[in-house]
Amino acid sequence: MIDGEAVCPRCGSTAARKGGRDRKGVQVHRCRDCGRRFTALTATPFSGYRFPPEVIALAVRWYVRYRLSYADVAELLAERGVHVNPSSVYAWVREFATLYEDAARQFRTGVGSAWSVDETYVKVAGAWAYVYRAIDEQGQIVDVYVSTQRAAKDAASFFRRAIEATGVAPTAVTTDCAAAYPPALAAVLPGAAHETGKRVQQRIERDHQHLKGRLRPMRGFKTLAGARVLCRAHAFLRNLRGRFYDFGRAVDIAASSSASPVARGWDALTADLLGR
Ligand SMILES: [Zn+2]
Repeated sequence: MIDGEAVCPRCGSTAARKGGRDRKGVQVHRCRDCGRRFTALTATPFSGYRFPPEVIALAVRWYVRYRLSYADVAELLAERGVHVNPSSVYAWVREFATLYEDAARQFRTGVGSAWSVDETYVKVAGAWAYVYRAIDEQGQIVDVYVSTQRAAKDAASFFRRAIEATGVAPTAVTTDCAAAYPPALAAVLPGAAHETGKRVQQRIERDHQHLKGRLRPMRGFKTLAGARVLCRAHAFLRNLRGRFYDFGRAVDIAASSSASPVARGWDALTADLLGR
């Protein structure tokens, strides 16, 4: 919606008239050209939710960023007079964490070509799963992949996905001495220089600690999908914090009063998802 003008999400017409309010008190418009009834949220990912985008956005950001449970987030919202079930916070995180990351992709600044790759562990349904993570020479987290196995094909999957997601094929890769990496690199990145050793791995191992910290109050994940959502979203917020995204004017448009790069970036993305 531009300058308060209502644009029909079905036909793109700007010939709409106001048509009362819906049950939540939100202004409804009716398109004069195709008859579609719509609100400012129709055709946005926030359509159909009982709570406004601002509440959903805040809940998801808090959950991913801080060491909180779904119930903690519900309690913090209740302090602000917003009464939400923890199960709603869970549903929002599952739906929106990935949407925000996808929306942010266009604003990502360049990923470097020297990657440091390592895996850490999380409990999923009582068993260990492996979280493959890579950071570049600037400290930007390149990509994250959760797998139940730690074979060469899993490491290869990680590299393929990371290259596809970033559009960057690294020219240098450092790993620990795990046996899975040499065959994975030979298959996916035969031209890349490969260095191993404890010293070169300190950076990525330190970076794992941030994820470990977020996961510490949790007793593991129930599903692999849940592990993937949070491990990826956590990395995404780390990158927001590290200012590896350039939102340009979008940050001003979002008019965030917060000085935190995470909150500012998040607000800019909320505005982007709302089509503002
Ligand atoms: Zn229309």
